[in-house]
Amino acid sequence: NKITIAIDGFSSTGKSTIAKQLANQLGYVYVDSGAMYRAVTLYAMQNNLIGDAYFKEETLIEQLPTIDISFAFNKTLGFAEVFLNGVNVEKDIRTLEVSGFVSQVAAVPEVRKQLVDQQRKIGENKGVVMDGRDIGTVVFPNADLKLFMTASAETRAERRYNELIERGDEVDYQAVLKNVQERDYMDSNRKDSPLIKAKDAIEIDNSNMTIDEQFKVISNLVTK
Ligand code: C5P
Repeated sequence: NKITIAIDGFSSTGKSTIAKQLANQLGYVYVDSGAMYRAVTLYAMQNNLIGDAYFKEETLIEQLPTIDISFAFNKTLGFAEVFLNGVNVEKDIRTLEVSGFVSQVAAVPEVRKQLVDQQRKIGENKGVVMDGRDIGTVVFPNADLKLFMTASAETRAERRYNELIERGDEVDYQAVLKNVQERDYMDSNRKDSPLIKAKDAIEIDNSNMTIDEQFKVISNLVTK
């Protein structure tokens, strides 16, 4: 029997690493809901709807019906890449610049509604691992297994910093830490679907856990 697995938590808690590994082992579909919010944010940036001193929220809302987000599985990578209006934006959505604007875009109720509807459709046929901020609380409140991942802000910033450096981005650690802390704050304090642990979610603090250790713990929960 295939199940639905919801993985929520703060930024850079390693949700996607675990979710991908779990989906591959179980033969499930992995959905990175954060990538969808990032793709809408990239759209807003490309169309000058958001910048350091402005956010044309109303215009973004008007244009939402024209923003198409889709996924296509990449065999080599072993996961589904995200497309914005038919263009592969998997790499473009991971910059620190997109990370700097995404929580503002994700706070817009109309944006959330459109993406949550799409996420529910993708999850209609069980056998899904979805990660994000509101998967266990809003998207799939009846998920069979809910995990809530946490780690210290410094641990998370260090992980994100290493990822960005690895892809060749020029960033400094303090800026990454600041972004992680700002997103924690904004994601936890927005009015619509704030980041909170679902009552029935199992919390995993992975500050001092390797990926293998986390994977063992989580695999045991799945087979229970
Ligand atoms: O998971 P990731 O860090 O890529 O998510 C980027 C941002 O998208 C989060 O900081 C949050 O603002 C937003 N998000 C959300 N709800 C989700 C997934 C992501 O609001 N389910």
